[in-house]
Amino acid sequence: MTTTKVQAYAAQSATSALAPFRITRRGPGPLDVEIEILYCGVCHSDLHQARNEWHNTIYLCVPGHEIVGRVTRVGSRVTRFKPGDLSAVGCMVDSCRSCPNCQAGFEQYCLSFPTFTYNSEDKHLGGHTYGGYSTNIVVDEAFVLRVPAGLDLAATAPLLCAGITTYSPLRHWKVGPGQKVGIVGLGGLGHIAVKFARAFGTHVVLFTTSPNKIADGLRLGAHEVVVSKDADAMKKHQGSFNFILDAVSAQHDINAYLSLLKLDGTLTLVGAPEQPLPVTAFNLLLPRRNFAGSAIGGIAETQEMLDFCAAHGIVSDIELIPMQKINEAWDRLLKQDVRYRFVIDMASLKS
Ligand code: NAP
Ligand code: ZN
Ligand code: ZN
Repeated sequence: MTTTKVQAYAAQSATSALAPFRITRRGPGPLDVEIEILYCGVCHSDLHQARNEWHNTIYLCVPGHEIVGRVTRVGSRVTRFKPGDLSAVGCMVDSCRSCPNCQAGFEQYCLSFPTFTYNSEDKHLGGHTYGGYSTNIVVDEAFVLRVPAGLDLAATAPLLCAGITTYSPLRHWKVGPGQKVGIVGLGGLGHIAVKFARAFGTHVVLFTTSPNKIADGLRLGAHEVVVSKDADAMKKHQGSFNFILDAVSAQHDINAYLSLLKLDGTLTLVGAPEQPLPVTAFNLLLPRRNFAGSAIGGIAETQEMLDFCAAHGIVSDIELIPMQKINEAWDRLLKQDVRYRFVIDMASLKS
């Protein structure tokens, strides 16, 4: 197998800043697609992972799983891509493909664990996988997505994680017209969730801790915006929601949102804070509420989501940054100061 050295940004420990590093990529095998990365979104998971907040990080850590790029080379048995095509890669680059969950199109719940785009065992080169904060990546074509024509490429990158992670649970729990849906947290995931919930025809209520995001919440599609620190405003919504999607990255009171659900309503967590979230039993028992979770989405569903976005003109609101500004961007992410997804212009790493 041939290999090449490519430029990347990496964390060498939980406390070190991201810095330039050269990593090894495999040359494309028969089923592989080699992609020149044009844009990579900055997910809060990148920061959780690089700082070992989920206690499983393998260093050297090259984050990045919201990848849009152009195909440069393909293996001899690749049928769906050719050099020059636009393509995208999300959070997974492989899975066992044979377990019941993979067979059902839920590769993200592979019983042998999917190979994540970064921080997973690299079955080709040994060691572990490196993500999209780099100039290129080589991925089996079964895990490469098509980018529909007409989408802004930089603003499409966040759809590969923030998009599918919010689209999948809204679809799974079948939100639609006549339903009242809450979105908690107006960050990268939350702002795309607002767009999807609106496009699916629901009555959308955004919950935010940031009063300065009210106008944006309405512009992005929310019918109502509630500042969650306002106890009276929260009280008005008690027991009234069919579905709530919680996309908060840090410790917060989940009971405040469970109590907003009506009978048989569901609160689905997609946020992945470092610390456990205590749940008060009676908030679930009365009146028979569901507390659920959801992780990204399968490959076929990710393609469906991209096609839906192209048909409905949905992309992320982004702030384009050069790779060299990534540490500053992460500081701002922690201060809830992102409008609403940082996307790295990878040309900055090549120059
Ligand atoms: P983000 O852009 O940083 O947004 C998080 C939002 O949460 C903030 O904008 C803020 O919204 C709210 N928030 C932050 N700190 C808070 C606090 N202390 N109390 C209450 N609200 C707070 O992050 P993201 O990239 O959207 O990711 C959100 C979470 O989802 C992360 O934990 C990430 O790891 C996780 N995630 C999970 C999956 C999955 O498959 N389940 C996939 C991707 C990401 P307001 O200012 O509006 O309050
Ligand atoms: Zn992500
Ligand atoms: Zn599997």
